Amino acid sequence: MSFAAWIDASLGSGIARHFMKPYNEKLWTVPLEELTCDWMGRFVPSTSLECILNGALADQSSNAGYNATFSYPLRGGIEALPRAFAAGLANVHTNCELVRLDVAAKQLHFKNGQKACFDRLVTTMPLPALIRSVSDVPGVVREAAQQLRYTSVCNINLGINRNVTDKHWIYFPEPEYCFYRAGFSHNVSPNQAPEGCSAIYVEVGYSDWKPLNRSGLVEQVKTGLVQTGLLTPDDRILAELCLEIPCAYVIYDRHHRPCSEIVRTYLRENGIVSIGRYGAWEYSGMEDAIWQGRLAAEEIMG
Ligand SMILES: Cc1cc2nc3c(=O)[nH]c(=O)nc-3n(C[C@H](O)[C@H](O)[C@H](O)COP(=O)(O)OP(=O)(O)OC[C@H]3O[C@@H](n4cnc5c(N)ncnc54)[C@H](O)[C@@H]3O)c2cc1C
Repeated sequence: MSFAAWIDASLGSGIARHFMKPYNEKLWTVPLEELTCDWMGRFVPSTSLECILNGALADQSSNAGYNATFSYPLRGGIEALPRAFAAGLANVHTNCELVRLDVAAKQLHFKNGQKACFDRLVTTMPLPALIRSVSDVPGVVREAAQQLRYTSVCNINLGINRNVTDKHWIYFPEPEYCFYRAGFSHNVSPNQAPEGCSAIYVEVGYSDWKPLNRSGLVEQVKTGLVQTGLLTPDDRILAELCLEIPCAYVIYDRHHRPCSEIVRTYLRENGIVSIGRYGAWEYSGMEDAIWQGRLAAEEIMG
C-alpha cells in the first residue's frame, strides 16, 4: 500500500486533504503515491475518532505521537550531546572529508591528503555518498546506491526581539507557505535565546524532484511568518542564519528496501558497519544513532 492510499484508508478524505497530504508533500517533495509505509512506525501514530475530535476541539496535552515528551540539553543546544561524547575521546579529527575509500586495501583517503587504514570501519556517512567514494565498487552495488533517493532541508534560523509563541513547534500544510514546519527553541530551553526573545527555526524541504529557488527565500519565509500571525511587521530580526542539510530525509520508495539492503550487505561483507539515520538509510532519530553506535562498538569489541 502506498502512503497516499494509507492516508485515505486510515484517516479519511478531510484530514487527507487539509493536513496529511499537503503537509507530507512538502516534507517528502515527491508524490505520496511513490512512498511506501515502511517508514511510518512510531512517526505516524494511529488514532481514533475520539482522539481526533479531542485534538481538534481542545488544546489537549495527551501523549499522542512519539515526540509528545522529549529531553533537550539545558545549555549548549543539541550540540551539547556530541560535545559530551567527544569529551571522553582523545583522537577525534574534524574537517576531514572522505574522498576515496579503497575497500580491498582497507584504506581511507581524505581531501586534506591524509590517509588512514582500518580493520573494521564504522561509518555514519549517507550511503549514496559513501558508495560514490568507493574506488572499486561492484556495478550492482553502485547501481543500487544510485536508486537511493533523499530530500534536503534548508533551515532558516531567526532571532526575534520578543517571545512570539509558547509553542515548541508548528506544522504548516498550507501551500502559501514555503516551509513545512517552524520550531521555537527558546521554549525548549530558556538558554536558547536572550530573555524575552525568540529563537525560531523554519524548515523548507527540497530535492532533485522539487528544486529550491534560493533567491528571496529568507524574505519569503519572513513574509510567511507574518501571514501566519507568528511575526508582526514591527518585529526586529536580531539574528539570521541559513543552514543547509543536504541529506535530510531518506525517501522510502519501492527501491528503498532492496537497494539499501544490497549496499549494506556489501559493506558489511567488507568489514564496514554503516549506521545512523544516513548510514542505515532510514527514518530515525538521535537515540537510534546512539544506540546503533553502542551496538556497533559491542560487536567490534566482541
Ligand atoms: C530537519 C531534521 C530534524 C530532525 N529532528 C530531530 C529531532 O528532533 N530529534 C532527533 O532525535 N533527531 C532528529 N533528526 C535526526 C537526527 O539529526 C539524526 O538522527 C542524527 O543526526 C543522526 O546522527 P548520525 O551521527 O548517524 O549522522 P549525522 O549527524 O548526519 O552525522 C554524519 C556525519 O557524517 C559527515 N560526513 C558526510 N559526508 C562525509 C565525508 N565525505 N567525509 C567525512 N564526513 C562526512 C557529516 O558531515 C556528518 O557530520 C532530525 C533530522 C533532520 C534532518
